[in-house]
Amino acid sequence: MKWIKGFFKTFFLWELLVGLSLTGRYFFSKKITIQYPEEKTPLSNRFRGLHALRRYPNGEERCIACKLCEAVCPALAITIEAEPREDGSRRTTRYEIDLFKCIYCGFCEESCPVDSIVETNVADYHFENRGENIMTKEKLLAIGDRYEEQIAKDRELDAKYR
Ligand code: SF4
Ligand code: SF4
Repeated sequence: MKWIKGFFKTFFLWELLVGLSLTGRYFFSKKITIQYPEEKTPLSNRFRGLHALRRYPNGEERCIACKLCEAVCPALAITIEAEPREDGSRRTTRYEIDLFKCIYCGFCEESCPVDSIVETNVADYHFENRGENIMTKEKLLAIGDRYEEQIAKDRELDAKYR
């Protein structure tokens, strides 16, 4: 009896039909893949991407060179040098993040008392030349200037859930 069943299954290509029905079901169902980079999935406002240094609305940099971010960084990715300005305020003369070392833990932005170092939601970036992985103060400030609107919005939203 078993062999008759097997014979008919083989004769009518039963397994093939079962496989095709599964293919057909997924072919007409809603697609979950997207056409990256033209299409992007939504990102959380707490997403930790490319770093940025922020300024106050008057253009003054926020960072007060307290070095908390450098101390807390588990990957030792941050290097800071600082000295007082003529007006007595303390500012960094060198602020660098090695993105090859960074593990995007977010500790630096959590520790910053003045909301200066932050991680933006910029997730797609690349390096083409040796040394571009070192984000200098100028580069970080430029990223901050460029994405300030989005950063401020994300931090406002984030504050609601803390
Ligand atoms: S995200 Fe974490 S690992 Fe990267 S620089 Fe900040 S503290 Fe260091
Ligand atoms: S970025 Fe923030 S935590 Fe780091 S040195 Fe500047 S003020 Fe301090």
